[in-house]
Amino acid sequence: MDLKQYIREIPDYPEKGVNFKDITTLLKDGDAFKAVVDQVCSHFEGRGITKVVSLESRGFIVGGALAYHLEAGFVPARKKGKLPAETIEQTYELEYGTDTIEVHLDALCEDDVVLIHDDLLATGGTALAALKLVQKMKVKQVFFSFICDLKFIENGNKALLDEYETHSVVT
Ligand code: AMP
Repeated sequence: MDLKQYIREIPDYPEKGVNFKDITTLLKDGDAFKAVVDQVCSHFEGRGITKVVSLESRGFIVGGALAYHLEAGFVPARKKGKLPAETIEQTYELEYGTDTIEVHLDALCEDDVVLIHDDLLATGGTALAALKLVQKMKVKQVFFSFICDLKFIENGNKALLDEYETHSVVT
C-alpha cells in the first residue's frame, strides 16, 4: 500500500511558501489508517515501550492507537497552559518567536521506555523539544515515530535526533 499517495498537499498553507502535508486524507481511509498503525507497531513491538508521548494536536490521533496496540500508556505533550495539574515545560525556537510544550510532572518516570510520536518531522524543533522534555524526567530510553519525515530539510536539530531510533511511515 503506497501510503504517500494518501497524504494531500496544500500549497501556501497556512502561509505562503509552506507546502502543507494534510494527513486527514489518510486518516479518513480505514485501510490506510490501519496500515500506518500496524506498520509503526510492528516496528516497535518487543521494545518494551511503556509510554507513547504524542504532540498536540495531530500527533494525538495515531498516538492513541499506537499506545493501545503497544499496550503502553498515553501521555499528551500540550501547548503551554492546557494541562491542569503540575507540569514540566520546554521552550523551543520557531521561525518567528518561540513556543512551549508541557507534560504533567507525574506522567513519566525513570523506568519508562518512551516512543515520541508526531504526525510530521520538518525542522525537528518540536521533536527535539519533546526529547529534552522527556530527558528532564530521566526516562530509560527514547524512540521516535512520525507519519511523514520531510527528509529534504537537514539541520542541526535533525542531526541531534539521529542518535535515536526513528521510524517514519512516509519520507
Ligand atoms: P518542526 O518542529 O519544524 O519539525 O515541525 C513539526 C510540527 O509542525 C509538527 O507538529 C507538524 O504538525 C507541523 N508541521 C510543520 N511543517 C509542516 C508541513 N509542511 N505540513 C504539515 N505539518 C507541518
